Amino acid sequence: MDKVAVITGANKGIGFEVCRQLAKAGVNVVLTARNEGNGKAAVNKLSSEGLKVSFFKLDVSDVKSFAGLFDYVSNTFGRLDIFVNNAAVMLDKGGAELGPIAAESAWNDLSSTMETNVYGPFALCLAMAPLMKKNQYGRIVNVSSGLGQLSEMRDGHESYRISKTAINAVTRVMAAKLGGDGIKVNSVCPGWVRTDMGGPNAPRTVEEGADTIVWLATLPDKGPTGGFFRDRKPISW
Ligand code: NAP
Repeated sequence: MDKVAVITGANKGIGFEVCRQLAKAGVNVVLTARNEGNGKAAVNKLSSEGLKVSFFKLDVSDVKSFAGLFDYVSNTFGRLDIFVNNAAVMLDKGGAELGPIAAESAWNDLSSTMETNVYGPFALCLAMAPLMKKNQYGRIVNVSSGLGQLSEMRDGHESYRISKTAINAVTRVMAAKLGGDGIKVNSVCPGWVRTDMGGPNAPRTVEEGADTIVWLATLPDKGPTGGFFRDRKPISW
Protein backbone atom coordinates (compact mmCIF):
# COMPACT_ATOMS: atom_id res chain seq x y z
CA MET A 1 0.00 0.00 0.00
CA ASP A 2 1.08 3.58 -0.65
CA LYS A 3 2.49 5.56 2.25
CA VAL A 4 0.07 7.47 4.46
CA ALA A 5 0.65 11.02 5.73
CA VAL A 6 -1.22 13.28 8.15
CA ILE A 7 -0.67 17.03 8.01
CA THR A 8 -2.08 19.44 10.61
CA GLY A 9 -3.37 22.94 9.86
CA ALA A 10 -3.47 22.11 6.17
CA ASN A 11 -6.47 24.04 4.86
CA LYS A 12 -4.18 26.83 3.62
CA GLY A 13 -0.64 28.15 3.50
CA ILE A 14 2.40 25.90 3.77
CA GLY A 15 0.46 22.91 5.12
CA PHE A 16 -1.83 22.87 2.09
CA GLU A 17 1.16 22.92 -0.26
CA VAL A 18 2.82 20.09 1.69
CA CYS A 19 -0.36 18.03 1.14
CA ARG A 20 -0.21 18.77 -2.58
CA GLN A 21 3.47 17.85 -2.95
CA LEU A 22 3.16 14.64 -0.91
CA ALA A 23 0.01 13.57 -2.80
CA LYS A 24 1.77 14.27 -6.11
CA ALA A 25 4.54 11.94 -4.90
CA GLY A 26 1.92 9.16 -4.55
CA VAL A 27 1.33 9.42 -0.79
CA ASN A 28 -2.20 8.93 0.65
CA VAL A 29 -2.70 12.29 2.37
CA VAL A 30 -4.99 13.02 5.30
CA LEU A 31 -5.48 16.78 5.24
CA THR A 32 -6.58 18.01 8.67
CA ALA A 33 -7.98 21.38 9.68
CA ARG A 34 -9.87 22.76 12.65
CA ASN A 35 -12.59 24.27 10.45
CA GLU A 36 -14.55 21.58 8.60
CA GLY A 37 -15.78 23.83 5.76
CA ASN A 38 -12.31 25.21 5.03
CA GLY A 39 -10.73 21.76 5.29
CA LYS A 40 -13.23 20.11 2.94
CA ALA A 41 -12.86 22.97 0.43
CA ALA A 42 -9.09 22.40 0.48
CA VAL A 43 -9.54 18.64 -0.06
CA ASN A 44 -11.92 19.28 -2.96
CA LYS A 45 -9.35 21.54 -4.59
CA LEU A 46 -6.66 18.84 -4.43
CA SER A 47 -9.11 16.09 -5.48
CA SER A 48 -9.99 18.15 -8.57
CA GLU A 49 -6.28 18.02 -9.44
CA GLY A 50 -6.57 14.22 -9.39
CA LEU A 51 -4.78 13.77 -6.04
CA LYS A 52 -5.59 11.20 -3.31
CA VAL A 53 -6.52 13.31 -0.28
CA SER A 54 -9.02 12.74 2.53
CA PHE A 55 -10.18 15.03 5.33
CA PHE A 56 -10.21 14.74 9.12
CA LYS A 57 -11.33 17.59 11.38
CA LEU A 58 -8.61 18.22 13.95
CA ASP A 59 -8.03 21.09 16.33
CA VAL A 60 -4.48 20.51 17.61
CA SER A 61 -5.28 22.28 20.89
CA ASP A 62 -7.99 19.69 21.66
CA VAL A 63 -6.19 16.65 23.06
CA LYS A 64 -9.50 14.82 23.55
CA SER A 65 -9.90 14.57 19.76
CA PHE A 66 -6.57 12.81 19.14
CA ALA A 67 -7.97 9.33 19.81
CA GLY A 68 -10.47 9.98 17.00
CA LEU A 69 -7.64 10.75 14.58
CA PHE A 70 -5.78 7.60 15.67
CA ASP A 71 -8.90 5.48 15.08
CA TYR A 72 -9.62 7.09 11.71
CA VAL A 73 -6.09 6.47 10.38
CA SER A 74 -5.93 2.99 11.90
CA ASN A 75 -9.34 1.89 10.54
CA THR A 76 -8.99 3.53 7.12
CA PHE A 77 -5.36 2.79 6.26
CA GLY A 78 -3.98 0.54 9.03
CA ARG A 79 -0.70 2.44 8.95
CA LEU A 80 0.92 5.85 9.31
CA ASP A 81 4.24 6.76 7.68
CA ILE A 82 4.46 10.55 7.81
CA PHE A 83 3.19 13.07 10.37
CA VAL A 84 3.70 16.81 9.84
CA ASN A 85 3.09 19.11 12.81
CA ASN A 86 2.43 22.21 10.72
CA ALA A 87 -0.44 24.02 12.47
CA ALA A 88 0.60 27.04 14.49
CA VAL A 89 -0.48 30.49 15.57
CA MET A 90 1.39 33.76 15.94
CA LEU A 91 -0.82 35.71 18.35
CA ASP A 92 1.71 38.35 19.41
CA LYS A 93 2.13 40.43 16.29
CA GLY A 94 4.51 42.89 17.94
CA GLY A 95 6.49 42.63 21.17
CA ALA A 96 5.18 42.17 24.71
CA GLU A 97 4.76 45.43 26.66
CA LEU A 98 6.28 45.89 30.10
CA GLY A 99 4.21 46.31 33.31
CA PRO A 100 1.75 44.21 35.33
CA ILE A 101 -1.30 44.70 33.08
CA ALA A 102 0.64 43.89 29.92
CA ALA A 103 2.15 40.89 31.73
CA GLU A 104 -1.31 39.37 32.13
CA SER A 105 -1.99 39.75 28.43
CA ALA A 106 1.41 38.26 27.56
CA TRP A 107 0.62 35.33 29.90
CA ASN A 108 -2.63 34.69 28.02
CA ASP A 109 -0.90 34.92 24.64
CA LEU A 110 1.84 32.53 25.71
CA SER A 111 -0.64 29.99 27.16
CA SER A 112 -2.72 29.87 23.97
CA THR A 113 0.35 29.83 21.75
CA MET A 114 1.94 26.98 23.68
CA GLU A 115 -1.26 24.90 23.53
CA THR A 116 -1.35 25.06 19.73
CA ASN A 117 2.33 25.24 18.84
CA VAL A 118 3.81 22.89 21.46
CA TYR A 119 1.39 20.89 23.66
CA GLY A 120 -0.64 19.75 20.64
CA PRO A 121 2.36 18.71 18.51
CA PHE A 122 4.00 16.92 21.47
CA ALA A 123 0.82 15.04 22.38
CA LEU A 124 0.17 14.20 18.70
CA CYS A 125 3.64 12.64 18.38
CA LEU A 126 2.85 10.45 21.39
CA ALA A 127 -0.67 9.64 20.20
CA MET A 128 0.24 8.66 16.64
CA ALA A 129 3.66 7.00 17.13
CA PRO A 130 2.21 3.50 17.75
CA LEU A 131 0.90 3.45 14.14
CA MET A 132 4.47 4.08 12.94
CA LYS A 133 6.17 1.86 15.46
CA LYS A 134 4.28 -1.24 14.34
CA ASN A 135 5.94 -0.96 10.89
CA GLN A 136 9.28 0.22 12.33
CA TYR A 137 9.05 3.20 9.98
CA GLY A 138 8.07 6.83 10.44
CA ARG A 139 8.92 10.41 9.53
CA ILE A 140 7.76 13.15 11.88
CA VAL A 141 8.37 16.74 10.79
CA ASN A 142 7.88 19.57 13.26
CA VAL A 143 7.50 22.92 11.51
CA SER A 144 9.50 25.34 13.62
CA SER A 145 10.96 28.77 12.75
CA GLY A 146 14.22 30.67 12.72
CA LEU A 147 12.49 32.90 15.30
CA GLY A 148 12.94 30.01 17.75
CA GLN A 149 16.70 29.70 17.27
CA LEU A 150 18.46 30.34 20.62
CA SER A 151 21.62 31.28 18.73
CA GLU A 152 19.78 34.12 16.93
CA MET A 153 17.35 35.09 19.71
CA ARG A 154 16.01 38.65 19.84
CA ASP A 155 12.88 40.27 21.28
CA GLY A 156 9.54 40.77 19.48
CA HIS A 157 6.95 38.01 18.94
CA GLU A 158 8.11 36.60 22.29
CA SER A 159 5.33 34.01 22.77
CA TYR A 160 5.79 32.71 19.23
CA ARG A 161 9.60 32.58 19.63
CA ILE A 162 9.35 30.70 22.94
CA SER A 163 6.92 28.20 21.39
CA LYS A 164 9.22 27.53 18.44
CA THR A 165 12.24 27.02 20.72
CA ALA A 166 10.08 24.56 22.67
CA ILE A 167 8.95 22.60 19.60
CA ASN A 168 12.63 22.08 18.84
CA ALA A 169 12.90 20.44 22.28
CA VAL A 170 9.93 18.26 21.30
CA THR A 171 11.92 17.20 18.23
CA ARG A 172 14.94 16.26 20.35
CA VAL A 173 13.04 14.28 22.96
CA MET A 174 10.89 12.46 20.41
CA ALA A 175 13.91 11.67 18.19
CA ALA A 176 15.56 10.07 21.24
CA LYS A 177 12.38 8.23 22.23
CA LEU A 178 11.55 6.84 18.77
CA GLY A 179 14.96 6.49 17.11
CA GLY A 180 15.20 2.78 17.93
CA ASP A 181 11.96 2.13 16.01
CA GLY A 182 12.99 3.50 12.63
CA ILE A 183 11.13 6.77 13.25
CA LYS A 184 12.96 9.99 12.33
CA VAL A 185 11.93 13.26 13.96
CA ASN A 186 13.23 16.59 12.64
CA SER A 187 12.52 20.31 12.89
CA VAL A 188 12.37 22.64 9.92
CA CYS A 189 12.35 26.38 9.32
CA PRO A 190 10.51 26.99 6.03
CA GLY A 191 11.99 30.48 5.69
CA TRP A 192 9.86 33.61 5.43
CA VAL A 193 6.92 32.57 3.27
CA ARG A 194 4.00 34.48 1.68
CA THR A 195 1.02 33.14 3.66
CA ASP A 196 -1.55 34.66 6.01
CA MET A 197 1.06 34.31 8.78
CA GLY A 198 4.09 35.43 6.77
CA GLY A 199 2.31 38.33 5.06
CA PRO A 200 2.50 39.63 1.50
CA ASN A 201 6.08 40.95 1.73
CA ALA A 202 7.69 37.58 2.44
CA PRO A 203 10.19 36.61 -0.27
CA ARG A 204 9.33 32.89 -0.51
CA THR A 205 6.47 31.10 -2.23
CA VAL A 206 4.57 28.30 -0.50
CA GLU A 207 6.25 25.86 -2.91
CA GLU A 208 9.67 26.97 -1.62
CA GLY A 209 8.42 26.89 1.99
CA ALA A 210 7.13 23.33 1.60
CA ASP A 211 10.26 21.95 -0.05
CA THR A 212 12.39 21.06 3.01
CA ILE A 213 9.31 19.81 4.89
CA VAL A 214 8.56 17.32 2.10
CA TRP A 215 12.25 16.38 1.89
CA LEU A 216 12.27 15.55 5.63
CA ALA A 217 8.93 13.73 5.32
CA THR A 218 10.40 11.39 2.71
CA LEU A 219 13.94 10.89 4.06
CA PRO A 220 15.67 7.63 3.20
CA ASP A 221 16.64 5.23 6.00
CA LYS A 222 20.15 6.68 6.19
CA GLY A 223 18.76 10.24 6.58
CA PRO A 224 19.22 12.39 9.69
CA THR A 225 17.10 12.50 12.86
CA GLY A 226 16.93 14.98 15.73
CA GLY A 227 18.09 17.90 13.55
CA PHE A 228 16.94 21.39 12.58
CA PHE A 229 16.95 22.23 8.85
CA ARG A 230 16.38 25.06 6.38
CA ASP A 231 16.85 24.67 2.63
CA ARG A 232 17.72 20.98 3.21
CA LYS A 233 20.76 21.98 5.33
CA PRO A 234 21.30 21.83 9.11
CA ILE A 235 20.96 25.13 11.00
CA SER A 236 21.92 25.98 14.59
CA TRP A 237 19.43 25.58 17.45
P1 NAP B 1 -0.98 30.09 7.98
O1 NAP B 1 -1.21 30.33 6.53
O2 NAP B 1 -1.45 31.11 8.98
O3 NAP B 1 -1.59 28.67 8.32
C1 NAP B 1 -1.61 28.20 9.64
C2 NAP B 1 -2.49 26.98 9.68
O4 NAP B 1 -2.53 26.49 11.04
C3 NAP B 1 -3.95 27.28 9.28
O5 NAP B 1 -4.45 26.22 8.54
C4 NAP B 1 -4.65 27.38 10.62
O6 NAP B 1 -6.03 27.10 10.57
C5 NAP B 1 -3.90 26.29 11.35
N1 NAP B 1 -4.16 26.30 12.79
C6 NAP B 1 -3.93 27.27 13.70
N2 NAP B 1 -4.33 26.87 14.92
C7 NAP B 1 -4.82 25.60 14.78
C8 NAP B 1 -5.37 24.66 15.66
N3 NAP B 1 -5.54 24.90 16.97
N4 NAP B 1 -5.74 23.45 15.17
C9 NAP B 1 -5.58 23.16 13.85
N5 NAP B 1 -5.08 24.03 12.96
C10 NAP B 1 -4.71 25.23 13.43
O7 NAP B 1 0.57 29.92 8.31
P2 NAP B 1 1.78 29.27 7.48
O8 NAP B 1 2.70 30.38 7.16
O9 NAP B 1 1.29 28.36 6.44
O10 NAP B 1 2.49 28.45 8.66
C11 NAP B 1 2.67 27.04 8.63
C12 NAP B 1 3.79 26.69 9.59
O11 NAP B 1 5.00 27.35 9.16
C13 NAP B 1 3.56 27.18 11.03
O12 NAP B 1 4.07 26.21 11.92
C14 NAP B 1 4.40 28.44 11.11
O13 NAP B 1 4.76 28.75 12.44
C15 NAP B 1 5.58 28.05 10.25
N6 NAP B 1 6.38 29.16 9.74
C16 NAP B 1 5.86 30.02 8.84
C17 NAP B 1 6.66 31.05 8.36
C18 NAP B 1 6.16 32.04 7.33
O14 NAP B 1 6.91 32.96 6.96
N7 NAP B 1 4.94 31.90 6.82
C19 NAP B 1 7.98 31.19 8.80
C20 NAP B 1 8.48 30.28 9.72
C21 NAP B 1 7.67 29.26 10.17
P3 NAP B 1 -7.15 28.26 10.38
O15 NAP B 1 -7.19 28.58 8.90
O16 NAP B 1 -8.39 27.62 10.88
O17 NAP B 1 -6.72 29.44 11.20
